[in-house]
Amino acid sequence: MPIHILSSELASQIAAGEVVERPASVVKELMENALDAGATQVRIEIAEGGRALIRVSDDGSGIPASEAQLAFERHATSKIASVDDLMRISTLGFRGEALASVASVSHVTCVTRARGEEVGTRLRLEGGRVIEHKGMGAPAGTIITIEHLFYNVPARLKFLKAITTERRHIDALVTRYALAYPDVRFQLTHDGRVTFQTTGSGALQDTLIAVYGLDTAQQMIEISNLQSLLSNTSAIDELETAKLKCLGYVSDPALTRANRDELTFFVNGRWVQDRSLAFAVTQAYHTMLQVNRYPLCFLRIELPPEDVDVNVHPTKSQVRFRDSDAVFRAVQRAVRQALVQETRSIETRGQGEWESEKQGEWEARRPGEEAPGTQAGLRALNLYAPEQLPASNLQPPTSNLQSPISSLQPSVSRIPPLRVLGQIGVTYIVAEGPEGMYLIDQHAAHERVLYERFMAGLGNSTLAVQNLLDPVPVELTPVAVSLVEEHLELFKRIGFELEAFGGNTFLVRSVPAMLAASDLREALNDVLIELDAGDMPLQSDEEARLVRRVCKRAAIKAGQVLSMQEMQGLVQQLEQCISPRTCPHGRPTIIHLSSDQLAREFGRH
Ligand code: ADP
Ligand code: MG
Repeated sequence: MPIHILSSELASQIAAGEVVERPASVVKELMENALDAGATQVRIEIAEGGRALIRVSDDGSGIPASEAQLAFERHATSKIASVDDLMRISTLGFRGEALASVASVSHVTCVTRARGEEVGTRLRLEGGRVIEHKGMGAPAGTIITIEHLFYNVPARLKFLKAITTERRHIDALVTRYALAYPDVRFQLTHDGRVTFQTTGSGALQDTLIAVYGLDTAQQMIEISNLQSLLSNTSAIDELETAKLKCLGYVSDPALTRANRDELTFFVNGRWVQDRSLAFAVTQAYHTMLQVNRYPLCFLRIELPPEDVDVNVHPTKSQVRFRDSDAVFRAVQRAVRQALVQETRSIETRGQGEWESEKQGEWEARRPGEEAPGTQAGLRALNLYAPEQLPASNLQPPTSNLQSPISSLQPSVSRIPPLRVLGQIGVTYIVAEGPEGMYLIDQHAAHERVLYERFMAGLGNSTLAVQNLLDPVPVELTPVAVSLVEEHLELFKRIGFELEAFGGNTFLVRSVPAMLAASDLREALNDVLIELDAGDMPLQSDEEARLVRRVCKRAAIKAGQVLSMQEMQGLVQQLEQCISPRTCPHGRPTIIHLSSDQLAREFGRH
């Protein structure tokens, strides 16, 4: 093929592809335009996850009649005029590409009236071509309706995920922007039902509750710039602080997630994805988090527009800081200070209880882990008293119930009867067997025991389920609600009976018996994250994956003191397991030092 210039239609579809990846990208661009137009109310209506309809209405400045058609041209913008402007962008939009891109891959109807103008405009476009343009009475502001998204881009259409997936992306987006703009009233409807709204009262706390639910919102710690100013910072730091604001909320160290999805950053009002910011926050938690757990945060970073380049990526979701180290430090410090302050106030509330403990003990008993002897701690341990189990669960699981790992490693992986000697570092059990010494990771071992028991119960329908006398209400995020609705049956199969209770609240009627009631919310959360992570794997796989999550949550933790009897109980049950040598996630449960190895180490050979 000789070199030739692409047709303008093809070229614009290619360009559109960079901006409009999925329905949520359309929502993002339209919402940003509304915010740039100074809207105090933004309504987002979605049908079928955005495939059928996306409508964003605002009460902002509106588009003057004489400019309405121009707005849909590529590189048409009212937001910048010169290269200098590009250096200090204070609006969300600036490329003048969004409306043109969206219009080129859909049917658009735009109804708008600029403040100060008598008559509004109605404009309709198909595939970027104007098919109707007339004056019309309209409320001040703009209503943009997108239908038949990607109708002329079959490749994109094919890559759209299930409606619920697209919905979740939209939910995540709208809720984040609602947090960043507490003064704006947001309303989101899916298929005619209001699923999320904020008051626009300006109180971030209200929005926080609307987004995360009351339980989670209560465990969020506020970060205010004031804290940075009060600390013993050097003069340079103070200067930095004056120019650089970091505000928002971070989670209590006890409230964590298994991934970084809930680390949200807004830079000058723009939602950005930034690994180094995420790293700065996690670092600030230092030793407060368990491995592979991540905090939640919602941080707004404000800095002079000339100190950040937003013209990095077509979707504007990445930024480049002029002095990224300074931003990194400021974020880390602000988060750290908020956490330290919070921990101190807990200490004083605890009336010396904490002070009397040695540092080491505090480290060993990190937040989020059950202290030995508490109700829940004891309960978790009681669970492996054999008489509490249905008789069928005492039998080793039958072969068809083995995890993939166990089917690869038949009986050779069984462990011999062991004699427990004690505990090391409140984490490992030391035992002696016919073949030398065994170190057992108490958490990993318990996970394995729970997992095999759970899978056996699932297989022969004797899963031990605990019905809750008082159903526990849990408030979920809009994102989680659609996940739960979609998977109610699956939840029930693994022991969680959930019932819609209006709004975003569900009643938990039963939980897998292995779970302590106090772990319920966290476990549910873990399962939701696990669900969210996989797109549509095979049914049975998915079940096992979720069960592994629940077991991880329910298993005794490192740092928990165990009595001799409890350790013996655990080891005996591990001996019964089909694959006792690894935890369900594949990490080893046991390290074995044979008598031979010992002899060699001591130079006895
Ligand atoms: P950009 O936002 O980068 O300027 P867009 O293609 O998103 O580019 O929009 C083009 C122009 O249309 C904007 O600069 C703005 O003047 C106008 N516009 C778009 N949406 C709205 C709206 N909701 N309210 C007022 N003006 C709007
Ligand atoms: Mg725009």
